[in-house]
Amino acid sequence: MKVPLLDLKVGYQDIKAEVEAAVLETMRAQAFILGKRVQDFESAIAAYVGVEHAVACASGSDALLLSLMALGVGPGDEVVTTPYSFFATAGCIARLHATPVFADIDPETFNIDPGQLERAMSPRTKAVIPVHLFGQCADMTAIMEICSRRGVPVVEDAAQALGARWRGEAAGAFGACGCFSFYPSKNLGGFGDGGMVTTNDPGLALKLRALRAHGGTRKYTYEHVGMNSRLDAIQAVVLQVKLRRLESYHEGRRRNAEAYRRLFGDAGLTGTVVLPVERAEAFHVYNQFVVRVPDRDRLRDSLKQQGVGTEVYYPLSLHRQPCFEGLGYATGAFPRAEAAERDSLALPVYPELTEEQLTHVVSAIAAFFG
Ligand SMILES: *Cc1c(COP(=O)(O)O)cnc(C)c1O
Repeated sequence: MKVPLLDLKVGYQDIKAEVEAAVLETMRAQAFILGKRVQDFESAIAAYVGVEHAVACASGSDALLLSLMALGVGPGDEVVTTPYSFFATAGCIARLHATPVFADIDPETFNIDPGQLERAMSPRTKAVIPVHLFGQCADMTAIMEICSRRGVPVVEDAAQALGARWRGEAAGAFGACGCFSFYPSKNLGGFGDGGMVTTNDPGLALKLRALRAHGGTRKYTYEHVGMNSRLDAIQAVVLQVKLRRLESYHEGRRRNAEAYRRLFGDAGLTGTVVLPVERAEAFHVYNQFVVRVPDRDRLRDSLKQQGVGTEVYYPLSLHRQPCFEGLGYATGAFPRAEAAERDSLALPVYPELTEEQLTHVVSAIAAFFG
């Protein structure tokens, strides 16, 4: 039996007719970049997240970069974030010639630890980027309290967490900006790259709209030096079709996570395999189902031989990346992130998995641990 980490072709069957009709209509209209279709999608995301404004752009990475640009982050500024995330979380800071400052994670959720975050802040802290990793919100109660007290804006990296909630409020609705990605492997994935910034601040929304189009608010007049980072109409119509099903995708992922908990329990493996911790305040949307295991790399090889696809998110923490050597962080600086590098393993959790496939994954792990 084959259980890939992600199988986009299965899910496509359910939406094929609707998506293909929408794409065909867009092609015939010869609609390409931004325009009404993208505006409609922006409104739909704003409503879904529960914010006033949503500004579409070319990727999740650009959503982060545009947000920091809109907040005026630049040389001499520090931005505090987690060392345990996808590269873009810190890359956007360095690209603006500001300094990434890292704060270690909560070992249970892999999300930034608010106590560590507060200790890492300084008078030079211009912004804070919590990441809602794997589809579970960081502790936004504590983070918003710390940052509001100091008047520091929060940029949420919600690339993996569209639809996730913390105490009932949606990821992307807490901070000055919420950043989303529509990379195909995210819970709402397009037919290529795409991104979105959400905000309740009308001034920031205006600036973000300018910055994604070279910094101009009127044609050929530029108030800022921006970039070219826009969303295509074809992506917008595809994403609209999938957005209408997003809640059912989340349900599928959450159902699979529950099934894993039951199956690992039945197999007597919960002493060996540490299952993801779901905080009581969180509605987790399981973009990834990440377990912690001993002998991770050999288990991964064995699973591959047994037809099970897995991935390591992330094998090298951000403070240990070669390009950030100049920041001066030694190995050992963030022991919780470094422990997660060694023992975390993402298992297949996509919505269309069958009970037989889930059972196979758990049996394959049981076979390895004997
Ligand atoms: C995917 C991702 C991004 C970047 O999004 P892209 O659309 O691929 O540019 C940023 N941060 C996190 C945590 C991500 O998972």
